[in-house]
Amino acid sequence: MFNKFFSLFSHDIGIDLGTANTLVWVRGKGIVIREPSVVAIHKKTKSVVAIGTDAKKMVGKTPATIVTISPLKNGVISDFDATMHMLSSFIQQVHEVGSIIPSVWARPKVVIGIPSAVTEVERRAVWEAALSANAREAYLIEEPMAAAVGEGVSVFQPTGAMIVDIGGGTTEIAIISLGGIVVSRSLRIAGVEMDQAISHYIRLRHGLLLGESTAEDLKIKIGSAYKKSSRPKADRPLDEKIKKDSEEVKTEEVRGDKMAIIRGRDIETGLPKSIRITEVEVREALAPVLSRIIEEIADTLEAAPPDLTSDILEHGILLTGGGSLLSGIDHLIVERTKMPVVISDDPLTSVVRGTGKLLEDESMLDRVKVTGGLR
Ligand code: ADP
Ligand code: MG
Repeated sequence: MFNKFFSLFSHDIGIDLGTANTLVWVRGKGIVIREPSVVAIHKKTKSVVAIGTDAKKMVGKTPATIVTISPLKNGVISDFDATMHMLSSFIQQVHEVGSIIPSVWARPKVVIGIPSAVTEVERRAVWEAALSANAREAYLIEEPMAAAVGEGVSVFQPTGAMIVDIGGGTTEIAIISLGGIVVSRSLRIAGVEMDQAISHYIRLRHGLLLGESTAEDLKIKIGSAYKKSSRPKADRPLDEKIKKDSEEVKTEEVRGDKMAIIRGRDIETGLPKSIRITEVEVREALAPVLSRIIEEIADTLEAAPPDLTSDILEHGILLTGGGSLLSGIDHLIVERTKMPVVISDDPLTSVVRGTGKLLEDESMLDRVKVTGGLR
């Protein structure tokens, strides 16, 4: 009865609590929020200075008094308070925009996608964060399951489907059949690790120190996994935030080879310096990280029952998450695992679209929701 009352004033929402990006889906509207999972906090007063895009802009530029936190670093809730602030700020935003209803009355039903490796304690933390952010009911869904639902995989069939979600902090690998996850792995190696590999390479090879976001920018603009990528980079959607050439990374093309001019700090002189980096160098830098990810995919396949493996051989591995936008990554996985690969058309939104579908389908939600560790 009260639930009905609150639902009149509330938008039911689905949340992809990603390590790099948080997306919010509102029932009947679609995606309304898409922000980096970053919170800036004042060190002394502990008050929140900025959330999302505004906070990400501060990364690497904060004065001693402010600290930027990625509360979900590595796929675990490393900072409960920051996670709660982020969740409640997003839930509030949804109810403030274009609404005549006071947001204090809003008690939404919330479906949240979480990394499959989070512990029961951490699950409980997210669940409590959602409730303390004023949610009326909160349901947790493992991200690979949400991604599969979002991509329209028939998860209740007795057919094995393999999802590989390469995000910012974690790569989630799961094989789903009959509405459940049969085998899963969560690897703390993904997009951020790729950025670090690029920084490391450039420091060793060129004696240049790069900022965190410069390395990411370089990866997005000229990064690739495979030598001859059949899909040219220009055809792929870029991460929205970094569409334009930024100050630190400018790209050019010389006889089919992509290059970038990047700016960093010379280790010897300590002064700013620009150098030219080629596509080939970035690929070389990324290779070890990609190998680790692919080894884990192969291990997961080995651990799966043979009947499921043959289903996957037939339908392909479904690749999603921001990391699947890396040019040629599908070719490398096909070459190494001998399995076909299908990339999502919109890999940055698979999980949140899944939570959106689950909001509308109560019985499906009931069958796939995570219950362990919750009241
Ligand atoms: P999460 O679910 O962990 O929040 P996302 O699925 O949103 O992560 O993916 C974010 C990651 O994808 C970041 O590490 C980002 O650098 C990477 N990424 C985004 N676009 C591209 C691209 N075009 N090429 C390679 N990596 C990309
Ligand atoms: Mg994700």
